[in-house]
Amino acid sequence: MEMQFEPLDLPGVSLERPVVITGPCSAETEEQVMDTARSIASKGIKIFRAGIWKPRTKPGGFEGVGTRGLPWLKRVKKETGMYVATEVATREHVFEALKAGIDILWIGARTTVNPFAVQEIADALHGTNIPVLVKNPVNPDLELWIGALERLYNAGLRRLGAIHRGFSSYDKKIYRNQPLWHIPIELRRRLPRLPIFCDPSHIGGKRELIAPLSQQAMDLSFDGLIIESHCDPDSALSDKDQQITPDVLDYVLHLLVIRNEVQTTENLAELRRQIDGIDEQMLELLAKRMRVSREIGVYKKEHNMPILQTPRYDEILENRSAMGEEMDLSTDFVKKMLEAVHEESVRQQMIIMGDEKQLKVES
Ligand code: PEP
Ligand code: MN
Repeated sequence: MEMQFEPLDLPGVSLERPVVITGPCSAETEEQVMDTARSIASKGIKIFRAGIWKPRTKPGGFEGVGTRGLPWLKRVKKETGMYVATEVATREHVFEALKAGIDILWIGARTTVNPFAVQEIADALHGTNIPVLVKNPVNPDLELWIGALERLYNAGLRRLGAIHRGFSSYDKKIYRNQPLWHIPIELRRRLPRLPIFCDPSHIGGKRELIAPLSQQAMDLSFDGLIIESHCDPDSALSDKDQQITPDVLDYVLHLLVIRNEVQTTENLAELRRQIDGIDEQMLELLAKRMRVSREIGVYKKEHNMPILQTPRYDEILENRSAMGEEMDLSTDFVKKMLEAVHEESVRQQMIIMGDEKQLKVES
């Protein structure tokens, strides 16, 4: 389905990168909301965020102030002139948010995973054209992310955007949520007109990762940033390790280098020609490798040998990883590439054995 999006189109908000949305993870008290908002507005920022209903991993945490926080956001709008944004997860949230005059809605990562919940929100929004930003689902599933956008689109919403907030993983290392940048990059390729925001707060989970992640997002041509900020981060009731003060936020934004040059110079054109040539050689080599693999397949068939020869595969992985390291290629990259090549070789040999009908190896 080809979706024809409309720009977010918020009068007074410049479309120059990055479009910035900021504010606390959660609205906690009227005073905290107003203090934070005034300080943010004084930096020239135009869009304020605050969670009113908070999805929490475990019960017992701070689940947001609920509907009684909506008048605080109305007050932010009135006193600072900023647009206000909040998260909705149910039909009731949508009705309350629309009634309170919230300008922008977002759908949280734990909601995007659930087509029933997204459909309920889409149905409740039918007949409005309010901007809605869809966070990626917690699991790395691009189709589910696009599916949520399609549900909103089918309900008549056109001012849509996406928020990349990273993907959860069992072994948390540097990041709270793995960035897996190739997923938003593929989203951009599939839906080139959809504005994409990066949420470095939820990806990093730590204050010190906000600046580098924001810079990476800008270098990958993201349109905007949604960053959590709080007048007193250390006492925040949710996500305190990843919130920064409006002053620090302002500093981070000023440090960003925005590279907007699209002009192609002769030097770049020459380098790209080299890449084109190398890619062609690489594909020819791969085709040749597959031809040899098929010959091996014929041999195995004739000699009644099974396709998988584990010691041989281990040897390939080990020997090529060492070779790659010598050539400054990351072990992880070499391993992934060889796995893909091996998987395809196995698939080719299965075709030769006549197995492909019984067993399907995903390629
Ligand atoms: C949030 O933005 O505060 C939030 C709950 O984010 P996510 O849905 O990305 O976890
Ligand atoms: Mn948060």
